[in-house]
Amino acid sequence: MDLFSRSACSFSFMRKMDEEVLNKQVNDSATRAVPITSELRCEITTPAVSGASILSSNGKVGVRGTWNLIDRAEAENVKKIEFHAIDLKSGMEYLMYESQLGVGGKRSDSRVLEFRRPGSFGIQLAVVLSGRYGYYRKYSPYAYANILFPTSLDAMSQFKSMMDRCWGETKITTKEYGFYVYLNGNSNMTIGEIYESEPTNAQGEASFNIERNESIFYRCDPRSPSFTFAVAQFHTHPPLTHASPSYWRMPGPSGIDMGNLPDDIPCLVYDYDRNELEDGKLYGGHKPNIPGTIYTYNGTRRPIN
Ligand SMILES: [Zn+2]
Repeated sequence: MDLFSRSACSFSFMRKMDEEVLNKQVNDSATRAVPITSELRCEITTPAVSGASILSSNGKVGVRGTWNLIDRAEAENVKKIEFHAIDLKSGMEYLMYESQLGVGGKRSDSRVLEFRRPGSFGIQLAVVLSGRYGYYRKYSPYAYANILFPTSLDAMSQFKSMMDRCWGETKITTKEYGFYVYLNGNSNMTIGEIYESEPTNAQGEASFNIERNESIFYRCDPRSPSFTFAVAQFHTHPPLTHASPSYWRMPGPSGIDMGNLPDDIPCLVYDYDRNELEDGKLYGGHKPNIPGTIYTYNGTRRPIN
């Protein structure tokens, strides 16, 4: 069969079909027409490889794709370039950028990709080529970029005045107060609802739940800002002002706190400062306004993988 004349005769039809195939492939980022090739390169130009906080980077990752080593005939048939990202935690793939028109004689392209949520990502260049039988892709090996959650210290510095207010209240009411700090899709942190316990009993004990209300990580498209993720949990410990002087406790995270750690979420507890206390112990009947401090536990940064 004379393939050349066949394709020449049905050129306009093939052309239309190819466009449809291309669009389908573009929308289906898992399609792999051609294996990964070392002719293509993808490099991270913004220093986010080892990890940049989403607060400082706004999730922006600079990438440079190069297809300089594709042979001349192929280079002329480059129709489109794309940057894809795979979330290494969920395995989901996302098309982060595509050129709108043919890229002509270009051999490289630099882009800033915007990740709206934290994550550990493998990023690769895909070049869409036009061949005799339709469009196909070549892929570069992955380059890696980490977008990190804010730390519990970031949360503390942003919401210190609210934490101070809770601490002031807890010393008056003997209730515990607590809330989660959340990250939203605009690289901002907000605080959730403030929960409070009943006033403490004679032993200075109280218990309550701080509800965590967040998006499901692996379902969140990193291109979309519509998510809320917890980045830190905060609560206060009430005084022992009304307890017997024979009763004492160690300030800082309690046994109950350590047995009830929220998965992956760093915690902060506002309590009296051990360094200001004899033996580091807080005894019943103390003055309520001795110095307090914020303790961190359960890590300082929510992990991304
Ligand atoms: Zn506690």
